Amino acid sequence: MRLNELNHFINSFNKSERMPLLFLGHGSPMNAIEENEFVQGFRNAGKNIPKPNAILCISAHWETQGTLVTAMESPRTIHDFSGFPKALYDVQYPVLGSPYLAKETKELVSITSIDLDEKWGLDHGAWSVIKHLYPQANVPVIQLSLDYTKPPQYHYDLAKELNSLRNKGVLIIGSGNMVHNLGMIAWDKLNANDYGYEWAFEASQKMKEFILDDDHQSLINYTKQGKAFQLSIPTPEHYLPLLYVLALKEKKERLKFFNDKAVGGSLTMTSVKIETI
Ligand code: ZN
Repeated sequence: MRLNELNHFINSFNKSERMPLLFLGHGSPMNAIEENEFVQGFRNAGKNIPKPNAILCISAHWETQGTLVTAMESPRTIHDFSGFPKALYDVQYPVLGSPYLAKETKELVSITSIDLDEKWGLDHGAWSVIKHLYPQANVPVIQLSLDYTKPPQYHYDLAKELNSLRNKGVLIIGSGNMVHNLGMIAWDKLNANDYGYEWAFEASQKMKEFILDDDHQSLINYTKQGKAFQLSIPTPEHYLPLLYVLALKEKKERLKFFNDKAVGGSLTMTSVKIETI
């Protein structure tokens, strides 16, 4: 990259209108290549968003000790799943990374010392959904890892420190699933429309109420919300990306749900778009 190009690139991260926030329920990796209502929902969510300078994605599928941010020029497409058709392994999402945004993210955060990562890339939590928002792969993407040694409050507090990125054309996306219990999936009901167990709907409803009320503390304290939450969040990694997105919401911002359906009994695709009015 020539110096004048580099300057242009850096300047392009200067002030922008405040970018929306997305939490995307990614569900099955097959959503990357299938045509269905959820994919339509992802596409619709991407409409009316000004073209970002870059995307920062917090995916359920990158758990680390310590917090890392991908800092390579060209992240590889990671096929981090097994037992799927070859067509899914053939998918490449050849976006650029953004070493600049990685460094900026590291500098912004004081709650921990973020490490710059050169090994990861994009896992399917990121590319399987971002490819529907930007099929031309023309927006650079970096990922921020989930430190599995830390409590929910840490993730929420860390996310708050990323606030200024929203004013620099950075689209922040959390990718997970609010209700996610793979061990209890009804494999024979995967194609049934909006099929959820009672506890899954109960937890989903409660989560949406907390979200609409901006009652983030109750969501942070999800382990204290009873049996339905315990069954819905047996492990935290698919839930935590939601906390990153909510932490960055301002009270007056508009929030809407989409893809609000259950799949296979124990998983919800419920997604959230937050934007400044
Ligand atoms: Zn997943």
